[in-house]
Amino acid sequence: MKIFYETGEFPQEARGGDRKSKLYAAKKESVHRFIESLKCIESHYCRKSKYSDRKYLTCDLNITKLYRMYKSDPQNAQLGVKLSYFRNIFNTEYNIGFGIPQTDVCSKCLELREKIKREQDENKKKVLMTEKRVHSMRAKSFFENLRDTTPGLKIIFFDFQKNLPLPKVPDQSCYYSRQLYFYNFAAVEGSSKLPLCKDRVFSYYCTENEFAKNANLVASAVYDRLCKTDKTGITKIRLVADGCGGQNKNCILIGMCSKWLLEILNIKVLEVIFPVTGHSFMPADRLFGVIEKKLRLIEVILHSL
Ligand SMILES: [Zn+2]
Repeated sequence: MKIFYETGEFPQEARGGDRKSKLYAAKKESVHRFIESLKCIESHYCRKSKYSDRKYLTCDLNITKLYRMYKSDPQNAQLGVKLSYFRNIFNTEYNIGFGIPQTDVCSKCLELREKIKREQDENKKKVLMTEKRVHSMRAKSFFENLRDTTPGLKIIFFDFQKNLPLPKVPDQSCYYSRQLYFYNFAAVEGSSKLPLCKDRVFSYYCTENEFAKNANLVASAVYDRLCKTDKTGITKIRLVADGCGGQNKNCILIGMCSKWLLEILNIKVLEVIFPVTGHSFMPADRLFGVIEKKLRLIEVILHSL
């Protein structure tokens, strides 16, 4: 205080200094090392969107569980990292989500809704509103096509379930290792209004070491279904699948359909329908929901059969 009175300046503090940054660096480094050792699933659905580099961990994990796993290593435990510190690094320095990417929120709908909200110019607003109406009408007409119960028409929905990692064991170490994927390809027959039952649902499954998940696999499974399905009194077949280019929306599928049509004489029309992006909830997804709900209750799955 004496110096302040004499010179009008505060004296420099001699105490303190940078003693903690070294400790923090070690903490930070250990959290980074832990997070980077996790094996994430890259998103398949949002490949072209702005979330393209977002990675995903299985939906049965969360930050608290990860923190507990991190703490279970005695080396990390002695650093005394708090959950909030861990959470902060996880959320701000990495782009990792849990569970499957959000596909039920239509990005086009969201985009248009926000644009309409912000647009000041009345004319531009009207254009946007028309665009939104057209978009939702297209989605609506797609769903009407799924509900169609016209006699003589058979609708077949098909889709891949998300990859199911094997083995499923309550052991933390499996999150660090590359698991074996189990592919389940399902075909559901009949209008989307009908309940799911054994004679309408067909499953084609394999593990990733047996077959590659590609257009050929899809075409083979759909061909098999088309050949085996009951065609008495049917004159028109409608195939419905999501518009994933690598799997369903390609010339391999169309080529297979053409071959099949030449073989079967009583079918006059074969339609292939792809949904409006963002509005693609189909009976197959309902089926996968049921399967996943049951799987969640099983703690240990060691093999595919
Ligand atoms: Zn939409």
